Amino acid sequence: MTDTLHAAELTDEALREQAERAGRELEDASASDILRWAADTFGKRFCVTSSMEDAVVAHLASRVFPGVDVVFLDTGYHFEETIGTRDAVGAVMDVNLITLTPRQSVAEQDAAYGPKLHDRDPDLCCALRKVKPLEEGLTAYAAWATGLRRDESPTRANTPVVGWDEKRRKVKVSPIARWTQDDVDAYVAEHGVLTNPLLTDGYASVGCAPCTRRVLEGEDARAGRWAGLGKTECGLHG
Ligand code: SF4
Repeated sequence: MTDTLHAAELTDEALREQAERAGRELEDASASDILRWAADTFGKRFCVTSSMEDAVVAHLASRVFPGVDVVFLDTGYHFEETIGTRDAVGAVMDVNLITLTPRQSVAEQDAAYGPKLHDRDPDLCCALRKVKPLEEGLTAYAAWATGLRRDESPTRANTPVVGWDEKRRKVKVSPIARWTQDDVDAYVAEHGVLTNPLLTDGYASVGCAPCTRRVLEGEDARAGRWAGLGKTECGLHG
């Protein structure tokens, strides 16, 4: 409790130093121990974000912090399978599921910017439908956990297990950063964790439907995201 109160009172600079120190000290810790540190340090000011590609981090977090806030960003462009995974996670896991939505519906965005903004200006579309809503949704938290892994793509190769998110000025926890796809598969099999059905239908990474395609043999997991658009990240993690 004392640690939690201290974390709430720390300045951004002190939080950044705390995050960087924890990143060094927890580099070899298990995912559960990393999440336990985050839960003990930040209490209710800590949440897990999930794209509902799988529910591994939500599952890990719910075991060390029952009732943990799990934040899902509903862009309005998700596959039905993703929304179904979100609903199933809320029904079967001991988590407090929170769904964030953009200020504008897809119809309102189409009226303001023209249809299919994702094809013409995906950075703006992601800014409106992902980056801004997440920024607003995270204001109540000092720390957030993600499912980022170093093996997903070259842009994620240096992801720290705990780091400082300069853009949002929050502690960013990536408890499975060191995991491989085999580690994820083993955890899913051992614990019967929910996964998005699209992962067994040729998709290696699941995002919004208009910007996600199946991957080809030998491609990295995120090659099916914004394929042909020269874009690799939505702005949430860049
Ligand atoms: Fe828009 Fe595509 Fe970004 Fe989703 S991933 S917010 S549809 S540009």
